[in-house]
Formats: sequence, C-alpha cells, structure tokens
Amino acid sequence: MLETRNIEIYYGKIMVVRGLSIKVQKGEIRAILGANGAGKSTTLKTIMGYLDDQPEKGTIWFNDKRIDRLKTEQIVPLGIAYVPEGREVFPELTIRENLIMGAYTRSGDCSAEIDRVFNYFPVLKDRLKQQAGTLSGGEQQMLAIGRALMSKPALMILDEPSLGLSPLLVTEIFDIIRTINQEGMTILLVEQNARKALSVAHHAFIMETGRIVLEGPPDKLMKNEDVQEFYLGMQ
Ligand code: ATP
Repeated sequence: MLETRNIEIYYGKIMVVRGLSIKVQKGEIRAILGANGAGKSTTLKTIMGYLDDQPEKGTIWFNDKRIDRLKTEQIVPLGIAYVPEGREVFPELTIRENLIMGAYTRSGDCSAEIDRVFNYFPVLKDRLKQQAGTLSGGEQQMLAIGRALMSKPALMILDEPSLGLSPLLVTEIFDIIRTINQEGMTILLVEQNARKALSVAHHAFIMETGRIVLEGPPDKLMKNEDVQEFYLGMQ
C-alpha cells in the first residue's frame, strides 16, 4: 500500500535519512522503532509532504501512485491521515469543531464519522463542547486520532502516540489502535515505547541514524540480542 524506495532526506547539508526503504502492507500495523534523532519523524513528515524540501533521492508510492512530489493537501485526499507527535489539536476549538476540521477534505454530512469516533472514544462524546486545549494529554491524543479518522483514510500514520501518557493510558491508546486496525485500517506508527509497539505490530523496522538496520515480525525482533538490550531494556 505504501512504499518508500531508497529515500534520502537532508536538513541543509546534513543527511538525516540515508537510503530508507520500507513497505507497509494493506491491513497491517507496521512500526518504526528507534532512538531520539534517528530520523523517524522526518520520515513520516516526508511521506506526508510536510517538509519544505522533497527527498533528495528516492521515491514514495501509495497504492502504486508516486506521491513524493505532491503537497500535503494532495496527499490527504488520496487516503492517508497523519497524527503528529504532540497531537497538535486546535486548542481554542471544541472537540466537535476539531473533528469537523479533520473532515475538511470531504464534502457532505460527517455525522456518521463523528459517531464512529465517539464509539472508539466515548469520553470525547461527554465533552463535545469543551475546548480541546482543556483536555488531558490522553484525551487530546484520542481527539487527534479521532480527527484523523474523520477523513476516512485507508492508511493512518501516527507519530509517537504514547508520548507523555501514563502507562494506563498508553495501554488504552494501543488497545484502540489495535481495534481500529482490526476493523480494516492500515497503520504505520513511530514509537519509542518499543515494547508497546511490538505488542500490536505485525512487522517492525529498527531505525538507527537514518537507516533501517533490522526488520521483521515482532517475535523475531524480540529474540534479537541488540533489540533486547537497546530497545527492550533487558539483560
Ligand atoms: P524524535 O523521536 O526525537 O522525534 P526522530 O527519530 O523522530 O526523533 P527526527 O525528529 O526525524 O528524529 O530528527 C532526525 C535528525 O534531524 C535529528 O538529528 C534532528 O536534530 C534533525 N532535525 C529534525 N528536524 C530538523 C529541522 N527542522 N532542521 C534541522 N535539523 C532537524
């Protein structure tokens, strides 16, 4: 469904993504794991067309369409939604208004989508008219995921969904990510919480300084000594 082929990304003269090739298959959850600064967020932003510069080299494909020269507003309607690191909800707008913003690429009534979001996140329904800025971190993450669902994407891309959340909320968010996937959504996520990510993913990539150094299904990765030591804190 999504494929990057050998992409290189620079900030100025510094190459932060060094020939990265990943594939995301329809129906799966795939995770990119890696330390701070490995280039994970940069990769996601590039896929979404958020950076000023396009990849210096390589190509990005979504459903056999080349997207690495497109702008974000052309990419979203193709069926990709993005939940940025730090959620970035609109703090002054209510929950309802934030959700409606998520549907901006679609015309017509979006009440069925709003109901679907409330089905996943009942807590949001109770606070429909509350300003998003007054929500807790966990609730804002739910709202950010809900807003992404509003565009009815085929692929959802999440940057660090666990960031800053309590362990209980992390579990809740990952349970919902799994449910959304089981109901048909393909998901690519970036995570520093390797244990959680591997518990939901079908396949994961280990990224170090701009490169994929290892990839495979979670059970294979969890047997790898380096993964155990550096990502799972074992030993
Ligand atoms: P994190 O989890 O901390 O976000 P990451 O793996 O997502 O880490 P990136 O945010 O993609 O890493 O950053 C990769 C490298 O690019 C880092 O060395 C970072 O300092 C650098 N970088 C990120 N954004 C910019 C920018 N706008 N301008 C210049 N350098 C940047």
